[in-house]
Amino acid sequence: MRFKMITTMVALAMGSMAAQAVVTDKMIQDDAKTTGDVLSWGLGTQGQRYSPLKQINTTTVGKLVPAWSFSFGGEKQRGQESQPVVHDGVMFVTASYSRIYALDTKTGKKLWKYEHRLPEGIMPCCDVINRGAALYDNLVIFATLDAQLVALDQKTGDVVWKEKIDDYKAGYSASAAPIIAEGLLLTGVSGGEFGVVGRVEARDPKTGQLVWTRPTVEGHMGYKYDKNGNKTENGISGTQGKSWPGDLWQTGGAATWLGGTYNPKTGLAYFGTGNPAPWNSNLRKGDNLFSCSTLAIDIKTGQIKWHYQNTPNDGWDFDGVNEFVTYEDGGRILGGKADRNGFFYVNDAKTGELVNAFPFVKKITWATGIDLKTGRPNYVPEGRPGDPTASPDGKKGQTVFAAPGFLGGKNQMPMAYSPETKLFYVPSNEWGMDIWNEPITYKKGAAYLGAGFTIKTLNEDYIGALRAIDPKTGKIAWEVKNNAPLWGGVLTTGGNLVWWGTPEGYLQAADAKTGKVLWQFQTGSGVVAPPVTWEDKGEQYVAVVSGWGGAVPLWGGEVAKRVNYLEQGGSVWVFKLSK
Ligand code: CA
Ligand code: CA
Repeated sequence: MRFKMITTMVALAMGSMAAQAVVTDKMIQDDAKTTGDVLSWGLGTQGQRYSPLKQINTTTVGKLVPAWSFSFGGEKQRGQESQPVVHDGVMFVTASYSRIYALDTKTGKKLWKYEHRLPEGIMPCCDVINRGAALYDNLVIFATLDAQLVALDQKTGDVVWKEKIDDYKAGYSASAAPIIAEGLLLTGVSGGEFGVVGRVEARDPKTGQLVWTRPTVEGHMGYKYDKNGNKTENGISGTQGKSWPGDLWQTGGAATWLGGTYNPKTGLAYFGTGNPAPWNSNLRKGDNLFSCSTLAIDIKTGQIKWHYQNTPNDGWDFDGVNEFVTYEDGGRILGGKADRNGFFYVNDAKTGELVNAFPFVKKITWATGIDLKTGRPNYVPEGRPGDPTASPDGKKGQTVFAAPGFLGGKNQMPMAYSPETKLFYVPSNEWGMDIWNEPITYKKGAAYLGAGFTIKTLNEDYIGALRAIDPKTGKIAWEVKNNAPLWGGVLTTGGNLVWWGTPEGYLQAADAKTGKVLWQFQTGSGVVAPPVTWEDKGEQYVAVVSGWGGAVPLWGGEVAKRVNYLEQGGSVWVFKLSK
């Protein structure tokens, strides 16, 4: 009897250990508040990138030292844009060329790695990067450059399921971190430069089976799937033929390449959409929904609850993919978005109503402002690249100088929001471009731009600026300028600190109220990834991935030349206070 009781107790204890080890929906919902783990891209699906941890603070940060560093190894040192996730003493971190590592958070010891076998002929537009993994139950799930999703056992690294998203030969790829919301795996697609059709997909994270799909180009049908994989129609996105001329909607772009955020109080997932295809806007008169927009999708039904278009009829590659970060203002749930087009938008997260819009960069040529009544930009007509068919030879339209350049006032690097200071911390860039349009026709698997361009610098002393922005007033509370363009994300913590990396290789921490830089560390290569923090047995850790690359060296024109001294890399750094 006594023996039996002890074995029962052991079994119970083991049961509770096993129960602790798997990631539940509740844990994901509470992720932003729980400081012992980082379960989602964004440190909580709302995407605030705020942690209440304050052991490392404005007073103690001077004692921050490396705990360990781990090299991704190989000859694959390319852009590293990954945010690590941390659970149960293990860090899961993705790397260039669709690799993922499981590391002991205390020692940096490698537990396993998985290298996805990539075919010849993948077409990532902007380096062979990956932005991170999602955790669910006993699985870690990430997207690959050949447009697949792979789920691995957290303990062993064994592949549990693998699903194809779409055809990489048609230009589809995937690099965003998936998010999990209410037991659904939510992902987007990349490939807007190849005329793909953007969409959001919901899957069963345990099996990879589709639950619904929602196309992000107006006119396409969405689908629902039953347990056997049988699909039924789930309504057309918008109205066919309304905002696109002719057949162009069939290759309309609007890729959802940065993934999404989710707020459990609204039940809505927020996905930004990229440029309409092709870039030559003279070919596609109309708003070209739902490109360059924020889409709020009811995750129960897969229907678009509301949309807000940041750049109707985009002519500058102002992908509107930037993360929609929800926060509470009084009793209201709002969302902030620093768009590639240079304007910062605040929308009601339930209804999409535009609450505020203001510039967060200093030079904007394509619009004079956003009309808060209509929600539409006040365009500068001569700011749009000219129509090639109006030129004498029909081959090259009028070149215009445009700011921001197509790399954006902000790009893939996610901002942070502090509920304490009520400020957004936005990694922004000041640059412009010469851009012109050319004739183009769609060809499967070929670049579908109809545009030529050169990125230009605007200032001698800086391109990047980390800006603390008040979403109510649009005022910049402080800024820290940076010589190279900022390309990494931001973290803010209860220790009154803001953390971000620079292409010059520094991870740095500044006072969240004043912007005074209090600590920095040279990681050995450029930082183009967002930092994270967690605590373990009373010690606070900060981690960031290092490895210069991404879109700037590939597409940066004069800026790429200015920063061509930067060295590539591939490693993750972890810090804690010295004793
Ligand atoms: Ca957490
Ligand atoms: Ca684009």
